[in-house]
Formats: sequence, structure tokens, C-alpha cells
Amino acid sequence: PAPRPNVLLWIRAKTLRLHDSPALHHALSLHPSHLHIVFCFDPFYTTHVRVGTTRWQFLLSAARDFDSALRKLGNRLIVPRGKPGKVLPVLWDRWGVTHLVYERDEEPYPKQRDGEVEEMAREKGIVCARVVGHTIWDPREVAKVNGGRPPLTYAAFLSLVEKKLPRPGPPIPPPVGPLPPHGGLAVLECEPCDVWPEGKIIFKHWRGPDGSCSVPTLTELGLPEAPPPLHRGGETEALRRLSAYLSSTTLVAAFEKPKTSPTQFSPSASTTVLSPYLKFGCLSARLFRDRLLATYAKHTGRHTHPPVSLLGQLYWREFFYAVAAHTPNFDRMEGNPLCLQVPWRLRDRTDADVDALRDFEAWRTARTGYPWIDAIMTQLRTEGWIHHLARHAVACFLTRGHLYISWERGAEVFEQLLIDHDWSLNTANWLWLSASAFYTQYVRVYSPVAFPKKYDPSGEYVRKYVPVLRDVPAEWIYEPWKAPLSVQKRARCVVGVDYPERICEMEEARKRNIERMRVAYKEGVRGSVDLQRSQTTSSI
Ligand code: FAD
Repeated sequence: PAPRPNVLLWIRAKTLRLHDSPALHHALSLHPSHLHIVFCFDPFYTTHVRVGTTRWQFLLSAARDFDSALRKLGNRLIVPRGKPGKVLPVLWDRWGVTHLVYERDEEPYPKQRDGEVEEMAREKGIVCARVVGHTIWDPREVAKVNGGRPPLTYAAFLSLVEKKLPRPGPPIPPPVGPLPPHGGLAVLECEPCDVWPEGKIIFKHWRGPDGSCSVPTLTELGLPEAPPPLHRGGETEALRRLSAYLSSTTLVAAFEKPKTSPTQFSPSASTTVLSPYLKFGCLSARLFRDRLLATYAKHTGRHTHPPVSLLGQLYWREFFYAVAAHTPNFDRMEGNPLCLQVPWRLRDRTDADVDALRDFEAWRTARTGYPWIDAIMTQLRTEGWIHHLARHAVACFLTRGHLYISWERGAEVFEQLLIDHDWSLNTANWLWLSASAFYTQYVRVYSPVAFPKKYDPSGEYVRKYVPVLRDVPAEWIYEPWKAPLSVQKRARCVVGVDYPERICEMEEARKRNIERMRVAYKEGVRGSVDLQRSQTTSSI
């Protein structure tokens, strides 16, 4: 009889789960003699992508959780340190691999990397399968049924979903029986790791410090040990969280965004906080959708609908993925045909505009003098997740609202600090908030005072995240500069001494920027595509 396939399942940071994994399912459907489940710890991400400690912690715990689930099934996650293009060919040669299976990724860097790896594999006669598993619909299919272009409005996307795209199949259950064995680590002796062009050695050798090819620690990544994070990664936690949220059918049926509170933190946030789990593939979007539809079916009364419902949120994700995959230079202003060209401050990373740099630094480090903005940026810096409307508030403040600084600089800070940072979704939402694409109501600016008051008049959220303001009376919690000096002294929070002065006067800044945006809109210039400047960015 013909020998059974020998399969390498190439796992990436978007496939960390057993349930509804089309890649794992495909690998098992080949009835392999061996199944090598490999997650290359690509030094690209430690050098070329901004990743803060909380996101590393989330990823490492997600990978550990996946590894432990695989071990219960008699296999494991093999985590060589090194570029996939270097490590995988060694592994498939030595293990005698016949099939390579992995999940499709439309972001610029993975697309290029996967193309190169696949070419090498095919040259060796290895059968390659690329499957779609990160989104409910394949972004390429979405564009295909729309005449080869992505839909540019949510309404157009919804209409495609309803009329032209196939109904998503049911989620695939996780495997139950023992998995085929992997090929062992003996094939991976002590190959030294790649030296990065800057002469930097990221990892010493492929097998990691203890030789076991297990998930790295923060220390190995050169980061100091950090306190346990608020949000723990992994499929186990994702499924627990999903079930807990969906257990309240009334809450799910009534879910309506933006009508959720950005200041709610106890006992939990007002939305699901499932974004980091979707981002790392600890939770399948298709399973989420399926369980959500089942919850609606159980509910006897009416429920909300897209775009405002919880299902509608998942569809925003699908919509933005489709647009991002088909827009050149999506993550920049220049050369991006969707993006309004606005003469922002700091539009170039090397810009030396001292005032703009000072304002940007104050925003980034939560020292704007506006308690609402500083509280959000502190939550982001310490916990890595903030509510959607909190993201709106700080993104609007940085760009068209008050500081008139390029959305690209803001997106970079989010790239560093968000645990759910996602190349497509982060970019799309910054384009939106800066009124550079998708959204045109630039006159609607979030006030850093009136807006939070609607949700949290006594300022509990601000008191939690900016403790120096803890004793400021509610009347002045969002504008402490207006409190009489005696009140500031009593609250041990004198503006300019204990808490920063405001970096700008909000009304003045708002009016000036609306006028600037009016001019940009009148000129109406969008980016022209320069295909020479290829995108190489990505997220982890
Ligand atoms: P829920 O309201 O519970 O929604 C469920 C899921 O739907 C989310 O987990 C998410 O996957 C998806 N979703 C919800 N809102 C959006 C949206 N506006 N766009 C796309 N998908 C959405 N989301 C990210 O996942 N990664 C990012 O890097 C990111 N950057 C953002 C940057 C800015 C400036 C803004 C305004 C929004 C950004 N978002 C991003 C979108 C949104 O804020 C988060 O997805 C959401 O707040 C996550 O919380 P949740 O899981 O509780 O959402």
C-alpha cells in the first residue's frame, strides 16, 4: 500500500485553538502517519513589529494553553526559534514531510512569507494546502462576488453576506481521539539562530535555552518578568468567556453598539472583551457566530440586528478584513487610494516639529491634562484592552479633534499597546476615527469633558486609572483646572504641580481643526497608488 501522508501543520499566531480549525481538520483528514505541529517563533516579530509586554504575555499564554491541549491528545506544539523560510525546509527534509498545511493570511508580511515558503515546499514535491480559518468568509471571496473589488460600505458588505455569499458551514468540533505522533526533536540539533541584519542575535538556537522547543518565556524574549496580566490568553479562557457572556440571553439580545459604556470596569466591561481571543485565533469567528445565532434562537423576544448587534460587531471585523486585503498601502496615508490626504502634524515619523512631538508624547504617556484621555491611555498602557468608545475618544483627540497629529502615529502606539492589535482592524478604525476613510462627519468631535460625563458622572473610571485625581469632587473630575485652588489643595491634586496642565485648550483646538478638515475635504485628495512601495508590515 502507498505510504500514508506525513504532515507538517504550520501554526501561526492566528491559529491557536483546537475547535473549528480548518487547518487542523484538513491535516487530520489526510489520515497522516505523523503530524508535526510547528509554530516557528519568527524573529521578524521581535524586531519589526511593535509588541508590548502585555501582548507578548497574552500570546505566550495562548500558545501554552494550545500546547497543553495538544499534549492531552498525545501530540505537542513544537516551537523552533527562527525564520520559517529557514527552519521549515530543514524540518520537512529531516522528517520526510509529504504535505504542508496552514491557514491563509492576507496581511502583507505573512502573504509574502507564505508565498516564499510554499514555493520552496513545492520545489521539494511537498503538497501544500492553504485553508481559510481566521474569518467567517474568505476576504477574497467577498471581493470576488463583488466584481473583484471589496465593498466599501458596511451596508454593501451586509448585502453581499445576505444575497451573494454562501451560508457559513457549522463550526468543526475539536478532535477527540489521540492525534498521530510527531517526529520528535532529534532532527533539530543545535542549529544557531539567524543573525538579524543589524547584527542582532534574537535567539541563540532553534531549540531554545532548555533544548525542548517549548513556548518561550518573557526572559528569553529579553523582557523583564512582569506581573500576571489582567487578560490571560488561550482557547480555554476564550471558550469560558464566550459561554459566560452568551449565558445572558437578554443581554445578548439587547446588545447595541455604540450604546455600551466605555467607563464600565466592574464586575466586567460592557462588551465581550473577546477581541484578543479572536485576534490570536483562540476563538473561531465562525463558532462565535454560530453560538450567537443559537442564543438569539433561544430568546423569545426581539433582538438587535447588524450593524449595532453583537453579530453586527463580528461583521464589522469581516468587512474590514475584506477591505484591508484588497487596498494597496492600507496602513498608510500616502499611496492609499481610500485615504483622504490630510496635512497632519507628524505625518512623517522623522518630523522634528517640537510642539507636535511634545503633544504626542503627552498623549502617549497619559499626561495631556485631560483626565478622561489620561485615564484611557493609562488603562491601555497597563491592561492592553480598552472599550471601543474609549478608543474613539483618544483617537479623535489625537487626530482631527484636538491635536491634529497623524493617525499613523496613533495607530503605531496602539500597535505597541493593544493586546488585540490587529493589522487590518486597527488601521481601518484609525482611518474611520480620523475621518480619513469610511466616515465623513468630521464636525462631530468627542468632548473630553461632556462625553464621559454621560456615562460616568462621578468619574469612578478616572479615579481608578488616574489615582492622583481620586479625591477631586465629581463636579470637577473631568476639568480639575476649573476647581478653586482651595479645592485642589484639599484633594491633594494641584493642577500644574500634582497633575499636568492641559496641553491645549479644547474649544479653540476643536474649532481650528474643523476648519482644517473642511479644507482637506474640499480639496478631496485621496492617495494615489504607488505599487513600487510594497507593504511589508504585519502584526503579532
Ligand atoms: P465586542 O463589542 O464584544 O465585539 C465583538 C467582536 O467584534 C470584537 O471582539 C471584534 O473582533 C469585533 N469588532 C467589534 N467592533 C469592531 C470594529 N469597530 N471593527 C472591527 N471589529 C470589531 N479591534 C481589534 O480587534 N483590534 C484592533 O487593533 C483594533 N483597533 C482599533 C482602533 C481604534 C482607533 C478603534 C476605534 C477601534 C479598534 N478596534 C480594534 C475595534 C474595536 O474597538 C474592538 O474590536 C472592540 O472594542 C473589542 O472589544 P470587544 O471584544 O469587547 O468587542
